[in-house]
Amino acid sequence: MAEDLSALWNEVVVVPDFPTPGISFKDLLGILANPVTLGLAVRAWAEAVRPEKPTMIVGIEARGFPLGAALAYELGCGFVLLRKPGKLPRDVHRREYELEYGTSALEIHQDALTSADRVVIVDDVLATGGTAAAAVELVRETGAHVISLAVLMELTFLPGRSAVSCHDVRIHALIDDEGRPLP
Ligand code: AMP
Repeated sequence: MAEDLSALWNEVVVVPDFPTPGISFKDLLGILANPVTLGLAVRAWAEAVRPEKPTMIVGIEARGFPLGAALAYELGCGFVLLRKPGKLPRDVHRREYELEYGTSALEIHQDALTSADRVVIVDDVLATGGTAAAAVELVRETGAHVISLAVLMELTFLPGRSAVSCHDVRIHALIDDEGRPLP
């Protein structure tokens, strides 16, 4: 990638033992709060996914919403939300999955996407890959094609990459858990 992604790490706050003891939580909200790093991240993603010709960006609640919407705007794509249960008002598809700390579930409106859509899924962190794998399955349930997953950070000591790439989905991760830019 053309720009220096190491600047992203300056905006990361590592919070020990959150939300449960033993978890080193990577708070990436500073990347969003700084217009320089927000632009850097969105341009880097856009450069990576533009050749994949996406039509829709799908954001995972909650940090995938602002990040994904910014990427959708940059690419001229539409934006769709994957929400926590009980938030979407119409008929949904639903998937439960395991987190690095506990379990959760996601939902998507059944009519949010069509078989003509080529989708990039966006989130802040790829950890065990449970969230992203559930997101891939949900999007596929609508009939749309999932091309890739875009995240700011990949926790490379966890098996998230294989949990996602086994679904035949490319991964665009900008930095690892020590701030090193990823290829
Ligand atoms: P996973 O399903 O294990 O890949 O977890 C990914 C989701 O959980 C993302 O939406 C992240 O926001 C969040 N997450 C999991 N582990 C961490 C972590 N160590 N630091 C920050 N966010 C995390």
